Amino acid sequence: RDEAHQHVTMLEARVADLQAETSRKEGEFAAKLREITAASEHQQAAMLQKHMWELTEAHTRKVEELEAELRQKAQTIALLQAQKADAVKAEAAASAKVKQAKESAAGEFRAQLAALYKYVDELNAFRDSIQGELIAMTNDMFNETVQTKMVRMMRDREIGAIRKAKAEMRAEVDAAEARAKDAEEGAEAAREQCEHALRIKDLESAGAIKHYKDKWRAEFDKRKKLHNMVLDLKGSIRVLCRVRPLLEKERFNLETGPDGQPVQPVKCTTEELIKVTSDKGDKEFEFDRVFASSEGQETVFDEVCALVTSVLDGYNVCIMAYGQTGSGKTHTMEGPDSDPGVNSRALQELFRLAEERGDEWEYRFSASVLEIYNEQIYDLLAGGRDQDAEKLDVKQGPDGMYVPGLRVEEVAALSDVAAVIHKGKQNRSTFATNMNEHSSRSHLVLSVYTVATARMGGAVMRGKLHLIDLAGSERIGRTGAQGDRLKEAQAINTSLSSLGDVIAAIGNKAKHVPFRNSKLTYLLQPCLGGDAKTLMFVNVAPTREYAGESLCSLRFAAKVNACEINKQGGAKPAAGK
Ligand code: ADP
Ligand code: MG
Repeated sequence: RDEAHQHVTMLEARVADLQAETSRKEGEFAAKLREITAASEHQQAAMLQKHMWELTEAHTRKVEELEAELRQKAQTIALLQAQKADAVKAEAAASAKVKQAKESAAGEFRAQLAALYKYVDELNAFRDSIQGELIAMTNDMFNETVQTKMVRMMRDREIGAIRKAKAEMRAEVDAAEARAKDAEEGAEAAREQCEHALRIKDLESAGAIKHYKDKWRAEFDKRKKLHNMVLDLKGSIRVLCRVRPLLEKERFNLETGPDGQPVQPVKCTTEELIKVTSDKGDKEFEFDRVFASSEGQETVFDEVCALVTSVLDGYNVCIMAYGQTGSGKTHTMEGPDSDPGVNSRALQELFRLAEERGDEWEYRFSASVLEIYNEQIYDLLAGGRDQDAEKLDVKQGPDGMYVPGLRVEEVAALSDVAAVIHKGKQNRSTFATNMNEHSSRSHLVLSVYTVATARMGGAVMRGKLHLIDLAGSERIGRTGAQGDRLKEAQAINTSLSSLGDVIAAIGNKAKHVPFRNSKLTYLLQPCLGGDAKTLMFVNVAPTREYAGESLCSLRFAAKVNACEINKQGGAKPAAGK
């Protein structure tokens, strides 16, 4: 249609052109007319007429042509308009269709939406029901927590009561210790007075000297008795438990519980209680003291230190370590050079005390190192098991049990003791192919003998200190050992169970104590029972792997500990010094 319009415009422009030309021709005609007028009027008129007709004709033709063209264009326009109307109609039909399609889609969508709303409602209902259950469960859990808390509170109260009782006992011990100290000071003062008087009177008479000697002796005995009482109050067989720390390699494969925390099968609940969790559940034991894995050699020795004083006072003292191989016996007794154990700390304390008392007493020390393997005694200062020919045995002597032929070396200082121990260790390792294995199958006994001579009066006191690293307590016999192994296992079982029997018999004040059942108990006879003092470490490993063995060790130790408790209320055991 636009094209047609353009065309019309063009045609109109041409009409205008033609009109312009017409007026130009009319001008020309006027000129001719004037020319012709000059010629004959008639001719002129005829010519003019003719010319006018020609012009009019040409003009008319042109106009007709244009009109025809115009009509054609109008037709084209009409056609285009018809087409446009068709297009508009088609468009209306299409939008009607679209509208219909839209409506049907909206219907479907609404239906889906409704379905979704329904589903959401169902979910909400489900959620509500779960929330209800959850609230019920939370209430149950809350009740259980309250109950657990109450049980814990009750337990804590009980533990508190036990602690209080223990503290009261400790206070009594402290009071007795204070009394002992007072007596000691009294003795000291009396001694000074005595000496003073003696000097002034220039030992006037032998009778007076004897009187003072007796008085001093009486004071000394009193102090010794009081000190003894202090230790007795603590129990003359004491059992201390020690848990060793995890070894580096054990840290890697720790079992974890449901909370993701490493499982702790051995727990030191208080300073006196230890709990072991095994396949059979929890079991708790009480001892005089339980050392957690974090407690070091110095803390351990603090508990043992008082016993050393007794040795210088002429008592027999025995400190031993019991437990399965790898539980820390050797660490406790011997320890590494950088962090020494009970042995060297005890000896250090002996020498220190001896020096402190040097004004009153002259001390002499000697030491021996022996090993009991397969119920046979080996002298480690004489070359250990090389000297097979000379079999050593325990004999009853005037000063208690002794081993004839056993080398006893004089030691004057700590360095001498170190040398003796070193020699013993070297001799032990020369005949053992596997030192660890060997040491777990034999008992190692380091003995220190003291002879104290009073500078005044010449009284003599003899004391003995046995420091023992026992054979491993694990039950090798049960794992189908044969030959030498079986013999070894039997020997170990015999000596360790004899040790238990002997201690039990002493604790029960039995008429017969089976000291002779093993070399170990026979040798230790003067150091077990009577007014001798025994201290046993029970060493346990902290891992679940060894929980069974730990339980066995703790049961054995608990038996030993119970003996001490039995003894406390009653009279002193019959076996005398
Ligand atoms: P046992 O003599 O009972 O066979 P050990 O004393 O040889 O056991 O101890 C086994 C391992 O554990 C050793 O490597 C030792 O150094 C280590 N160990 C034992 N007790 C402790 C402790 N209290 N602190 C650090 N390491 C220890
Ligand atoms: Mg060892």
